[in-house]
Amino acid sequence: MKGQKQPGTAAATQAAAAAPASARASGPARAMLKLGLVRDIDLALHLPLRYEDETRLVPIGTLREGDTAQVQGQVHDCRVEHSRTRRHLVARVRDATGEIALRWLHFYPSQQKQLAAGRRVRVRGEVRGGFHGLEIVHPVLKVVEPDAPLPSSLTPVYPTTAALPQAYLRKAVTAALARAPLGEILPADVFPPGLPALREALQALHHPAPGEALAALEDRSHPAWQRLKFEELLAQQLSQAQALAERARLRAPPLHAGDGGGTLRARLAQALPFRLTAAQQRVVAEIEDDMARSRPMHRLLQGDVGSGKTVVSALAAATAISAGWQCALMAPTEILAEQHFRKLVGWLEPLGVRMAWLTGSRKGRQRQAMLELVASGEAALVVGTHAVIQHDVMFARLGLAVVDEQHRFGVEQRLALRAKLGAQGAAHGGQHTDTSPPLEPHLLMMSATPIPRTLAMTYYADLDVSTIDELPPGRTPVLTKLFADDRRAQVIARIRDELAQGAEGHAPRQVYWVCPLVEESEHVDLQNATTTHAELSAALPGTMVGLLHGRMPTAEKAAVMSLFTGGQMRVLVATTVIEVGVDVPTASLMVIEHAERFGLAQLHQLRGRVGRGSAASVCVLLYSGPLSPAAKDRLRAMAETNDGFEIARRDLDIRGPGEFMGARQSGDGLLRFADLGTDSALLARAREMAPRLLRESPQAAAQHVARWLGSRTDYLKA
Ligand code: ADP
Ligand code: MG
Repeated sequence: MKGQKQPGTAAATQAAAAAPASARASGPARAMLKLGLVRDIDLALHLPLRYEDETRLVPIGTLREGDTAQVQGQVHDCRVEHSRTRRHLVARVRDATGEIALRWLHFYPSQQKQLAAGRRVRVRGEVRGGFHGLEIVHPVLKVVEPDAPLPSSLTPVYPTTAALPQAYLRKAVTAALARAPLGEILPADVFPPGLPALREALQALHHPAPGEALAALEDRSHPAWQRLKFEELLAQQLSQAQALAERARLRAPPLHAGDGGGTLRARLAQALPFRLTAAQQRVVAEIEDDMARSRPMHRLLQGDVGSGKTVVSALAAATAISAGWQCALMAPTEILAEQHFRKLVGWLEPLGVRMAWLTGSRKGRQRQAMLELVASGEAALVVGTHAVIQHDVMFARLGLAVVDEQHRFGVEQRLALRAKLGAQGAAHGGQHTDTSPPLEPHLLMMSATPIPRTLAMTYYADLDVSTIDELPPGRTPVLTKLFADDRRAQVIARIRDELAQGAEGHAPRQVYWVCPLVEESEHVDLQNATTTHAELSAALPGTMVGLLHGRMPTAEKAAVMSLFTGGQMRVLVATTVIEVGVDVPTASLMVIEHAERFGLAQLHQLRGRVGRGSAASVCVLLYSGPLSPAAKDRLRAMAETNDGFEIARRDLDIRGPGEFMGARQSGDGLLRFADLGTDSALLARAREMAPRLLRESPQAAAQHVARWLGSRTDYLKA
C-alpha cells in the first residue's frame, strides 16, 4: 500500500510546521498543541466530556436545592457582606416567580459595579440552601438584554488543561468543525444501518440539540457515537490489514536447519539436560516452520513465567546458525542479557558456536572487538541489551532476531532491530529495487504477558502467536500470602525458618526481598532498599545478605548476582532490577515490600522468580494501607491465582485496555472512542468490512486510515 505512507508524511510535515509557530503561540494555543490538537480534524474529534444546558431558563420560584439550573432576572440589591473573617459579595436577583441570592467569596470591585440594581442577568450554577433562602455560590453570570436569545444547542464541556480555557477551546473546536474536511469517504453500506453521516454525527456530539437524549450521548450509546466508534474501529482494522498485506510482500532468507543428526540444531537438542515439554515441542515446530519460509516470521511466543521460553529461542537460534545465518537476541536489562548469555554459552559454545556480547557498559576496545566479530559474521550469535540496535552495529548476515520480554521494548526499538538486515544488505552492495524489497530478518518476540483475545483481534491481527501452555514437570505452584506491613517481624522470622529448612540436609533455600521502585525519586528508592538490607543483615546474623539495585556499577551487579546464583548468598534484597527473567531454581521465598505499589503484571513477573525448583515456594506480599480499590483488586488477584493468563485478564479488567499494551499504546491510545468490552458488535462488523474495502475501494480505505491515524500507522508495523 503505497498510499499509506503519504498521509503519515503529510501529518508529520504539518506537525513540524506547527512546531516553530508554537514557540511564539499564545498560552492557550500552545496548550492546544500539547494536547495533540494540531489539525482541524484533531479538534473535530476532540469530543465533549459532558454538556451544560443553557438552552432553557428555569423560573426562580421552582428552584430546589441541588438543582443545576439557569435563571434570568433583575438585580434588585448588591452589597458586600462582612462576616467575622471575610467579605462576600452578595447580589439578589428576582424574576416574576421568586428571588435567589448570588454569592462570591472572592471578587473584584468591578463586579459590584457590573451588578448594579436594575441590571438584567442570566445566571447558571448549582443551587444551595443558604441562611436566608436559596443561593448560588460563584455562578456563571452574563449581563443580558431582556430579549437576548438563548443558545439553540447544549453547551459542550471539553477535556482540557488549566492553560486552555473552555471558552477558547469551544471557539477553536467550532471553527475547526466548520473547516475540517469531513465528507463521506466510504460507501454507505459499509456502516451499520441507521447511523448519521460523519459531519452530522460530529455536529450532534459537539452541539447537541436540546431534545437530544443526553444519557445516550453521555454513555456513548447514541447513534452519533456509534458512527464514530465504527469509523475508528474500521480505521484500526484497515491499518492492520494493510500492515499484513505489506508484510506479505517482504522477503526474508528461508532458514532450514538441514537434515540429519549432524546439524547444530540436532546436536543442541541432543545435548539439552531435559526433555522438552509437549508444548515446547509444538511451538518450536511452529517457529521453525515460519523460519523456513521466504517471508519474515513475525511471531510472538507467549508462555507464563518459567514455562521455558529461553530454550525455545536457543533452538530457533541453532536453526538459523545451522542455515548459515546470524542470530541476535535482545533482552531489556543487563542482568537478564547476561543470564541468557551464560545459559546460551553453556549450551552452544561446546558445539562450536562463536558468540558476541553487547551491552551499554561495554565500551572502547572491547566493544570494537565485538563489533568486528559481528560485522565479519564470525560471531554467529549476538546477545545483548539495547546496545544490539545501536547504529554502529552491523551484521554480516542477520537471519533471526529474538526479542525477550518484548513488552519492555518500545516499538521504535523493535523496528530498529528489523532494519538491521536491510542496513547490512545495503552496506554489502546488496541491491534492492522496487520489485525486490530488501530482506528482513525473521522476528521472534517473547513475553510472559499474554495478550487477551479481544486485544489480539484488534491490535495484533498481523501477529502470529505461539503459546506454551504447560510448565516443565516437577514444579509446585507458588503459594501467595498477603501481610500488612505491621507484621514485618513475622515475615522475617519466616525467612529464618526457610533458611533453616535448607540447612537441615535438604536442598539449600534462598530468598528474594523486593523493594519497590519509587518513580519520583531514585534516591528514596535506594534508601528503601538500603534500609531493608541493613535491617535484614542485622536480623539474620551469619547469613550473607546481598543488595542489588539499578544504580550499581555493572561489575558489582554481576558479582552480586553470581554470589546469589552460586548459593553462597542466601538472601538478596533487590529493587525491581530482578523483575524479568532471572532464573535461580533454589530460590523458594519471595517477599515483596509495598506490593500495593506494583502493577499486576509486574507482581506476577516478580513472583515467577520463585517456584522454579522442586521446593514448595511462597510469595509474601507486604502492603501498607490504606489501599485504593484497584490496589485491593490487584493483591486479591495475586492471592487467588497463579495463572498468567487469568492474571492478564484481571489486569485488563482493572486497568482497561487503554493502558494494557504499553508500547503499542505509545501510538497515542489507538482506540479513543470504541470500547472493546461494550462495542464487540461494531468490532465484528469492522473486521468483516475491512478486507472487502481493501479489495473493492483501496483508495477510499487508505484515505480513511489517514484521516483517523495520521502519522501513527508506523506503530502498527512493529
Ligand atoms: P521463561 O519462560 O520464564 O523465560 P526460562 O526459559 O527461564 O523460563 O525457564 C525456566 C527454567 O526451566 C529454566 O531453569 C530452564 O532451564 C528450565 N526448563 C525449561 N524447559 C524445561 C523442561 N522442558 N524441563 C525441565 N526444565 C526446563
Ligand atoms: Mg525468560
